[in-house]
Amino acid sequence: MTDKSAEVVDALIFGGGPAGLSAALNLARARATVMVIDAGRPRNAATLRSHGFLTRDGISPLELRKLARAEIAEYPTVRVLDRTSVTTLSEVYGEDGVRFLATFRGRRSGGPSTVSARSVLIATGLRETLPAIPSLRGFYGITLFSCAACDAWELQDRPLALIGETPDIPVRARLIARWTDDLTVFTNGANVVDTAEESELAASGIVVERRRIDDLEGDRGVISAVRLSDGSRIRIDGGFIRPRWDPALDFLDGIAVGRDSEGHLLVDRSGRTSVPGLYAAGDAAAPGPQQLIVAAGQGARAAAVLIHDIVGVRTAH
Ligand SMILES: Cc1cc2nc3c(=O)[nH]c(=O)nc-3n(C[C@H](O)[C@H](O)[C@H](O)COP(=O)(O)OP(=O)(O)OC[C@H]3O[C@@H](n4cnc5c(N)ncnc54)[C@H](O)[C@@H]3O)c2cc1C
Repeated sequence: MTDKSAEVVDALIFGGGPAGLSAALNLARARATVMVIDAGRPRNAATLRSHGFLTRDGISPLELRKLARAEIAEYPTVRVLDRTSVTTLSEVYGEDGVRFLATFRGRRSGGPSTVSARSVLIATGLRETLPAIPSLRGFYGITLFSCAACDAWELQDRPLALIGETPDIPVRARLIARWTDDLTVFTNGANVVDTAEESELAASGIVVERRRIDDLEGDRGVISAVRLSDGSRIRIDGGFIRPRWDPALDFLDGIAVGRDSEGHLLVDRSGRTSVPGLYAAGDAAAPGPQQLIVAAGQGARAAAVLIHDIVGVRTAH
């Protein structure tokens, strides 16, 4: 059953980050009617500068979104609902190709509203849970980061930390060692580096520190040391943390869609999920490099395939 009073769009996009907005631009240019629903809490909100986006290296995340929104505003078939969260998505069997009904709630609107769509693109990114270290958030995005490809250049050749409690820490450490000869891995008491891995890391000059972290020290976001539970301090100038990542997909409870062991949406190389008409792009889709330009590229690709699927043509995608 469909809600006949609900507005109908060709493409409903959840999330107004680079993945969602890039898809919106390309869908608009293909003459699709598009609604973007965005809660407005981008993953990189903690950082002052974004790197690695060709032509925009070093831009503030806010400015990048503003530029994208200004470009999209030129297309009359796109509507963006700001500060609005999708609360549910269900599959429906409606007329004229309508397959989905979503409810959403905005800060200013009263009760929940609904919209029907022929296709849905999920681009809601990831939620991050940082290791439980009291002052960590005050340094995150200033001298502590999570993405080496994004931020290691600015920290190169300095004493760095990698703080994490997950089994991929040794692999991440070897990557970060590209940028410094002075790297300490802090496991904060978690048993995530075995002795063989520790020996391998030591052979590359990487120290593994297994004691619990009491807190971080520094001033106005500029970190100077990691203080351990026994009071000793290890001097660092910056570094990386490994948050735990969960895709922000609570609204999907009613739909049986393929996910990987960590809850990311499984997609084919064009962004199709296991549910016809449902696509995903950016950090919400199965892991790859978590970068702005990758998310934007995935959004553009999913938009192209979504149009092909609406028209019913099969291509090489
Ligand atoms: C500290 C930090 C620094 C980073 N620096 C860089 C960098 O320098 N360069 C780089 O390339 N990458 C960087 N990244 C990674 C980059 O931010 C992500 O890869 C990118 O934002 C992914 O884009 P996205 O569109 O998938 O998700 P996001 O940009 O996170 O956008 C998702 C949007 O969906 C919204 N949303 C979530 N749930 C709902 C819902 N239920 N309803 C409606 N909207 C919803 C969110 O509020 C958000 O606005 C950094 C990340 C962090 C954490």
